[in-house]
Amino acid sequence: MHSPQSTSELSSNGMVERDFTAGDVPGLRSPTSGTDRAPLMFDVIIAGCGPTGAMLAAELRLHDVRVLVLEKETEPVSFVRIVSLHIRSIELMAMRGLLDRILEHGRRRPVTGFFAAITKPAPEGLDSAHAYLLGIPQPVIVHLLEEHAIELGVQVRRGCPVADFEQDDEGVTVELADGEQLRSRYLVGCDGGRSTVRKLLGVGFPGEPSRTETLMGEMEVGMPQEEIAAKVSEIQETSKQFSLRPSGEGVYRVVVPVAGVSDHAEPLTLEDFKQQLRATAGTDFGVHSPRWLSRFGDATRLAKRYRVGRVLLAGDAAHIHPPTGGQGLNLGVQDAFNLGWKLAAQIRGWAPETLLDSYQAERHPVAEDVLDNTRAQMELLSAEPGPQAVRRLLTELMDFDEVNRHLIEKITAIGIRYNFGEGPDLLGRRLRDIEVKQGHLYDLLHRGRGLLLDRTERLTVGGWSDRVDYLADPTAVLDVPCVLLRPDGHVAWIGDDQQGLDDHLSRWFGKPAN
Ligand SMILES: Cc1cc2nc3c(=O)[nH]c(=O)nc-3n(C[C@H](O)[C@H](O)[C@H](O)COP(=O)(O)OP(=O)(O)OC[C@H]3O[C@@H](n4cnc5c(N)ncnc54)[C@H](O)[C@@H]3O)c2cc1C
Repeated sequence: MHSPQSTSELSSNGMVERDFTAGDVPGLRSPTSGTDRAPLMFDVIIAGCGPTGAMLAAELRLHDVRVLVLEKETEPVSFVRIVSLHIRSIELMAMRGLLDRILEHGRRRPVTGFFAAITKPAPEGLDSAHAYLLGIPQPVIVHLLEEHAIELGVQVRRGCPVADFEQDDEGVTVELADGEQLRSRYLVGCDGGRSTVRKLLGVGFPGEPSRTETLMGEMEVGMPQEEIAAKVSEIQETSKQFSLRPSGEGVYRVVVPVAGVSDHAEPLTLEDFKQQLRATAGTDFGVHSPRWLSRFGDATRLAKRYRVGRVLLAGDAAHIHPPTGGQGLNLGVQDAFNLGWKLAAQIRGWAPETLLDSYQAERHPVAEDVLDNTRAQMELLSAEPGPQAVRRLLTELMDFDEVNRHLIEKITAIGIRYNFGEGPDLLGRRLRDIEVKQGHLYDLLHRGRGLLLDRTERLTVGGWSDRVDYLADPTAVLDVPCVLLRPDGHVAWIGDDQQGLDDHLSRWFGKPAN
């Protein structure tokens, strides 16, 4: 169905990579009458029901977009890794009314200790009403997001891997592994780091391959607690990533870094695990009865493009990096939040011409920054004397409030400022969950629409009222007269004049309705 093009070349990661130029859309068939094509059954097909795919599906449904999610696995994943939801992702959950549900299943922790595991007290007065970190098992957050998407009307089909696709001038024909064909107007690859969609698209994925691996699992341990504690602190003097600690009910969570990379085709066994423990610690701690075992590498790669024609990439399909700092899931969910309303606008027919491409323009630099801070953190975790000296220096520097705050705002993603052009510092940033006369600002954003917060009580959203809500509130805790918020909560305009507002409503929300 999908054939590589003559301009293809092999990229550094051994994949077929294409050199795109304007108008060169892989798999785009020359326009035909369309009579031989299946009907467009869906507006968007999403490959992959991980956190990114589930979040994107829900965001699209807020705008009545017909969404199908195709998930390769028949059952949700069994390994229970605890992930950190950072401030910005927690804010997104609040903005869609999901936070209470999620808080029930997570553990709040202070915002500290996640930049290369350097522990410093959280800076005072972080600019958020949700200034904490939430530890939550990844399968639980995925389940909650999927449940939310289904409640909104998303169809999820499990055991249906996307095997191929072809795009044309009207849509995308998606082929499943069993040969079934489905058609939609857009396809989004949220299918993880080994993304089939990205590979079929031929988008380059440059970066560094894995140099080391980490084994991780939960199992029982046959050594007395005091002996374990002594051994673990001895190993951590030279290997900061090693850990072995109770995770409840007599089970231990074990993390063992390994030099070199193994054959991922071979499933990880308890014997592999024991061997690595003996090599690292001189003992296998008598581990037995594993609940689950997994391994991950430290490859760092970023897709060259996030969109080719009617096919887009989000989450790990677009970027991978080691889990240091716990940012990957957060980054993917935030990609989905950025893309959802824009793709919906494109489908509903009101998107200004450049809106969909602003997804890549805004999110690619954010991923670049996350990859860079992860590279830096990996260096700081090295046991070599040079990186250790830099680590000691940074540890000292983090005593300066501004340094500590800068790093925390970076990792928690509340420091992001999209480039919307010249303007006050707030322009392009997200607005925190301020108090307004109805209660909390984020409670007014559940429907995924724009919002004008008008302290002058003079302006109007006029012909955009089908896409943008209006709140006159002279009491709002802001030091600017009016702000226009996009559906993702970023500040699109600040001012007090109707003409300026109308220009920016057009820029972000298209033409007014008649
Ligand atoms: C040990 C570890 C700890 C981590 N801790 C954190 C943390 O604390 N915080 C954090 O933010 N991130 C963390 N991460 C990273 C995080 O797990 C990933 O970034 C996140 O899962 C990416 O989500 P995703 O939806 O983009 O991709 P995935 O979670 O990989 O989901 C992709 C989905 O697509 C499906 N799929 C694959 N191929 C196809 C196909 N052809 N057709 C249909 N479906 C397909 C897969 O089955 C899967 O369900 C950690 C990662 C590791 C390894």
